[in-house]
Amino acid sequence: MTAMATTTPAPTVDRISPAADAARRVAQTVTDPELPMLSLADLGVLRDVWVDDGRVVVVITPTYTGCPAMDTMRDDLVYTLRAAGYHDVEVRTTLHPPWSTDWISAEGKRKLAEYGIAPPGPAPSAVTGPVPLVLTPTVRRVDCPVCGSADTVELSRFSATACKALRRCRTCQEPFEHVKEI
Ligand SMILES: [Zn+2]
Repeated sequence: MTAMATTTPAPTVDRISPAADAARRVAQTVTDPELPMLSLADLGVLRDVWVDDGRVVVVITPTYTGCPAMDTMRDDLVYTLRAAGYHDVEVRTTLHPPWSTDWISAEGKRKLAEYGIAPPGPAPSAVTGPVPLVLTPTVRRVDCPVCGSADTVELSRFSATACKALRRCRTCQEPFEHVKEI
């Protein structure tokens, strides 16, 4: 005899069956519209996936606040899951805990570098416990994804998308994008 000690949102919610697992794997393959080399799994925005009475519920955390990519991401999730045979799909967003670039997996950071985009360093919000008061902006070291030089300079806080800054390497002269830490 087994006693289930865990509480679930509703008795029909299913996160562990092969069907729920399959839906999760499909959702994980959806890519970020602004960083198309990254899947939602790489990005760490996929918070939860469950099946409830035939409906697939996907919970995501927005990346950058007000990021227009979120609407596209939501549409892509619904489209991709429908194409995989899940016709009843609901995408929910949750803001807590807030997403930070630390949630990008090591694999995701590796893919960014492979595409010539400098991955984010440790997020400023990663500090646990009392948050130190910072009076001056931190000067970050961002290595060139082309030649690896640390001698790079920020040209613009924003590049093609708000989540990336435009930088240039002073060693090889190549411009490159950098996913900003948040
Ligand atoms: Zn370089």
